[in-house]
Amino acid sequence: MRPPSPVWHPFTQHAVQGEIPTIVRNEGAWLETADGRRIFDAISSWWVVTHGHRHPQIMQAIKTQADLLDQIIFAGFTHPPAEELAQQLVAMTPPELKHVFFSDSGSTSVEVGLKMALGFWLHSGEDRRHILALEGAYHGDTIGGMSVGERGVFNAPYEPLLFDVSRLPFPHRGREQETLQALEKACNEQAIAALIIEPLILGAGGMLIYEPRVLSEMARICQSHGVLLIADEVMTGWGRTGTLFACEQAGVVPDIGCYSKGLTGGSVPLAVTLCRGEIFDAHYSQDRRKTFFHSSSYTANPIACAAALANLKIWQHEPVMQRISDLAAVHAKALDRFRDDRRFCNIRQIGTIAALDLAVTDAGYLADIGPRLYGHFMARGLLVRPLGNTIYLMPPYCSTADEINAVYRAIADIA
Ligand SMILES: *Cc1c(COP(=O)(O)O)cnc(C)c1O
Repeated sequence: MRPPSPVWHPFTQHAVQGEIPTIVRNEGAWLETADGRRIFDAISSWWVVTHGHRHPQIMQAIKTQADLLDQIIFAGFTHPPAEELAQQLVAMTPPELKHVFFSDSGSTSVEVGLKMALGFWLHSGEDRRHILALEGAYHGDTIGGMSVGERGVFNAPYEPLLFDVSRLPFPHRGREQETLQALEKACNEQAIAALIIEPLILGAGGMLIYEPRVLSEMARICQSHGVLLIADEVMTGWGRTGTLFACEQAGVVPDIGCYSKGLTGGSVPLAVTLCRGEIFDAHYSQDRRKTFFHSSSYTANPIACAAALANLKIWQHEPVMQRISDLAAVHAKALDRFRDDRRFCNIRQIGTIAALDLAVTDAGYLADIGPRLYGHFMARGLLVRPLGNTIYLMPPYCSTADEINAVYRAIADIA
């Protein structure tokens, strides 16, 4: 039987999905349903919300901007919020990143990054087209993003549309050398254009964490072979891993960086792809064929840019880093209690992200355990959306210790 609503939801199998709650209001770390229930947003509404829902300064910036400008064409025109945001982003990231290309989602920021890399090589007159990626990676659901992401049930139907990439084994603890050797080998054997990575943690791939020194080594190998490094910081950016950007922990400056989710504090969609001067310069020419041919209709939406500027102000004027380290400490303390609990394994944390696996034989994303756990948490007013048997928390930075500990109590209650 078809559901009563015409809405087709993302990553939702409507034939097995239970009732879908209607959210009418949110504030801080909480969602409110139409029938008056309150739900704690332990995954920041799919990793986008950083300071909390409806931060007053971001909401005010959106209102103020809406009185001046809505969308305007961004080819051949510019506007103050985009100019100011680009200036500030360049100032707060490493000096090598000199140019800012706007788009409207994490996936498109990745597409833009891949196109920049390919354009760079073509316009530099070198035949390098091959892309390297990590096993288990997730880079979005557009065709390019899926191509560089792990193949599996999520993209099997679209396989004919996806381009080939070479994969490096994930740098599991103790087996990091295999990844580095595979990278070295690939760089020696093929004309590699770029390596795309999620720095320090694979998100949708299962919250798998690897060491900063592996990232530094990967960057060093890329550099020694002239291979561009694309850092997809769509999830890791904006403090998630304990530093503003994950690459900082490895002392790595990517050639191309993709940022979205927390860019507007999670309020409205916006993304940016930053790149080194050389990449812009390769496109800078009297020859119009070297134009960077990419746009989306809503490129650099002024209201979204104003929201992002308000987000940057919050980072400057509020103790965001302190909140992040407090939150990390709450995770660390709570996770400790699960170390001797045989029901769980692979207990791990990086900054504000904590994860543990339920020790079951039936693992994997499609395992029944996922929806069962989801129901377990929802019944307790907690939004937790396990990836198969991986339970993770990625709460907004305004969450209190009591709120976080309530989620850990619910985890301990899993029968
Ligand atoms: C979420 C995510 C994306 C895709 O972003 P969307 O805004 O959903 O298109 C890309 N890369 C990573 C690492 C992500 O976590």
